[in-house]
Amino acid sequence: MNCNYVWVNNLKRYEPLSSPTNAVGGEHTPFGRDDRWLVDLLGDVVWRIDDRWRWTYANNAVEAVYGAAPSEVVGRSFKEQFVPDRRELDFAALERVFSGDELTNYETVITDRRGSPKRVMFTARPLRDADGKVIGLEGLVRDVTATAEAVEALKKAREAAERAAEAKGSLLANMSHEIRTPMNGVMGMIDVLLDSDLDADQRRSADLIKTSAVSLLSLLNDVLDFSRIEAQGLRLEETRFDIHALVDSVVRVMAVSAFEKSVEMAYDIRPDVPRFLRGDPGRMRQVLSNLVGNAVKFTTSGEIVVTVSLDGPIADDVGLTCSVRDTGVGISQDRLESIFEDYTQSSITTAREYGGTGLGLAISRRLAHMMCGDVRVESEEGSGSTFSLSVRMKSDERRVVPVKANPTFSGLRVLVVGDNGASRRIICDILGHVGIETSEAWDGDSARELLLAQDEPCHIAMIDSYLPGRDGFDLARSLRARSETESVEVMILTSAGQRGDAARCRDLGVAAYLTKPVSRSDLLEAVAVVRQGSDRATDNEAADLVTRHSIVESREKLQVLVVEDNPVNQAVASSMLRKRGHAVEIVDNGRDAVDAVRRGSHHVVLMDVQLPVMDGFEATTAIRSTPGQEARVPIVAVTAYGVEGVRDRCLAAGFDRFLLKPFQPHELFAAVEGWGSGRVDSTSPPAPVDVESPVDRDALVSTMAEAGVADAVDGLLGVFTGDAPGRMTVLQGAVERSSAPDVEGAAHVFRSAAVTIRATRLAELLDEVEWNARAGSISRAVDIMPEVEMEFEAVMVYLSDIGTCVGSHA
Ligand code: ADP
Repeated sequence: MNCNYVWVNNLKRYEPLSSPTNAVGGEHTPFGRDDRWLVDLLGDVVWRIDDRWRWTYANNAVEAVYGAAPSEVVGRSFKEQFVPDRRELDFAALERVFSGDELTNYETVITDRRGSPKRVMFTARPLRDADGKVIGLEGLVRDVTATAEAVEALKKAREAAERAAEAKGSLLANMSHEIRTPMNGVMGMIDVLLDSDLDADQRRSADLIKTSAVSLLSLLNDVLDFSRIEAQGLRLEETRFDIHALVDSVVRVMAVSAFEKSVEMAYDIRPDVPRFLRGDPGRMRQVLSNLVGNAVKFTTSGEIVVTVSLDGPIADDVGLTCSVRDTGVGISQDRLESIFEDYTQSSITTAREYGGTGLGLAISRRLAHMMCGDVRVESEEGSGSTFSLSVRMKSDERRVVPVKANPTFSGLRVLVVGDNGASRRIICDILGHVGIETSEAWDGDSARELLLAQDEPCHIAMIDSYLPGRDGFDLARSLRARSETESVEVMILTSAGQRGDAARCRDLGVAAYLTKPVSRSDLLEAVAVVRQGSDRATDNEAADLVTRHSIVESREKLQVLVVEDNPVNQAVASSMLRKRGHAVEIVDNGRDAVDAVRRGSHHVVLMDVQLPVMDGFEATTAIRSTPGQEARVPIVAVTAYGVEGVRDRCLAAGFDRFLLKPFQPHELFAAVEGWGSGRVDSTSPPAPVDVESPVDRDALVSTMAEAGVADAVDGLLGVFTGDAPGRMTVLQGAVERSSAPDVEGAAHVFRSAAVTIRATRLAELLDEVEWNARAGSISRAVDIMPEVEMEFEAVMVYLSDIGTCVGSHA
């Protein structure tokens, strides 16, 4: 029932108009005799038809394309070739040419004389007589069947390859899951074991198990990552993250091993580097950890310095370079590029001496390429190496708050004492940036000489606990012993805290004791607190010892609900959390989790995704649909499925965070803590978490609806939009004048407005400003202002995005 019969049948009935041997002869021939042989050489069919759609000319190519000689087609209807289901379209296209249009590369399907379908491309134009009247058409038909088939075959091959890669990917996912689950038990229980009372032999054995487990896990991760990159199964996440916190935590973790070898470790994030970026923090951490880990591995003395700087101005995206400089063994010039190759180490002795797979840099470089950057190295054998990771990421800050010289620090003079030049330089840089005057000394003697020689003595001596000859505490003691230097406040920077250090600090009147590497914000905050302390001390008030702990505020104690069916994993999570001081309740299936949340006062839920009775996704959906505050409890998804998309699936299902098994204690704490939810003994429910939106409009709408005035929401937001800039200006003015009562008043009224429209984060920050101003700590209020300004801007952008019109209340 298709057109093939039409063609074949018509052919049978056809009576040729022209001579069978020369179909192109006579009046129908569009070419002279000399040109004809040339036209017949063409692979495309050259054709002409009259105004009744009958072939009047065809070149020899018609034989190959239609399976009929020119003489057989001339006189036949041109319409016969078109297939029924496209015929109307094809006719219409050619009708348009009869009306004067041209047709170029029009693609369709025809059938040849034998009934085989062909994909062809038509090109046609009208034929006119001497008066310009259209008397027919002429054109080309190109057979593209072979090309189309090749494209089709390629498409099929690609689909098959994709299916194979998918199968490989899911095999890897399952393998990764199968391996990670028992590894979680191994790693977690070793930590628990190491925390118990062990004799020396047992501890040595447990330590060895831990070392082997850690290297087995890193090997597994490398091989899995590598195969996923090879199978193109690795895609990057895009999420908002704090690059400053990320670098701080990578360096801090690695610093422990560096300091054990007496290798100095410091980092410097240039102040113009935006805090929040959008990208894949997990992969960024992986590459950076690899570079810093290698630096620690291949350095036995000297220093490792990590620097993060901008590659250019901030636009929608930013270029960042993280460089890791070490003073280690270095790499010979001829090996510099090959170390980036798969499974390559710089020498055979390296493998024997340092271990490793030779995959780390290969993976790092590929990941960097995926982040639109690269990893490069400069090195000199024997002198050290500098690895630089460059990436491009979206900036998630609408503007960078310029760091202003801070009034708290004006006129402050600090002497930085330490034998490591790089560390001293970084500290001086951080201090200098906020207007603090600095001087440097490399050991105790030169520090003392400098202090005595200065006309205007330093206010603070920032002393490294390790100094050549005598330690930092000795220097502190000798400063206290001399009347000329006894009033200098002492801050001790230590790489490894010793038992009894706090008591020594108190005995010697040391004002602050910080663990290296110290972040820019911790350092400045400590200096500010010490300065205030010394101001207060002159009013005869005792100042407390400032430590990182006291700066970061005492840690919140949380009520954590652990939902996990595997007893080993239950023990791992609960013992880590309990040791950290949190209270833990355990349930082993999703339904019990929903009941427990409805009953209770949990600050955060740690939920395995694969659970019996009701799985983690269902349980989360059920919790989220619970009426009341319990529905908002933060839920952390825990899974051993380290495949692409799982994270997104979890977040889309209502989970707030995502934790991959096996996890390190610090990863667990990072996932569970920091929800701002208050203490266990507090009766208040956890604060709602809304990381994306600076204004919780839904909460506002529901409160207003309860009061029966839901339609007033937009008006309310309009009032805020109109008033807020003025309130902000008043607050900024008060801060600039350093007038505590004015700051307190301005922050208070502004805060009430922010609370009303549920700009929760802004309200919290303003509360902090108000509270500090009331307590007389104007400098702390000043420090919070950049964050207030940023959050204020986020709120305003949000309001303008949702279309709240400025001054609509007027
Ligand atoms: P591995 O797991 O073996 O460390 P990498 O790919 O991370 O694999 O590194 C490959 C090789 O590059 C290492 O074996 C070492 O020889 C060399 N290398 C990497 N980083 C450094 C460094 N900071 N100093 C000296 N050599 C290094």
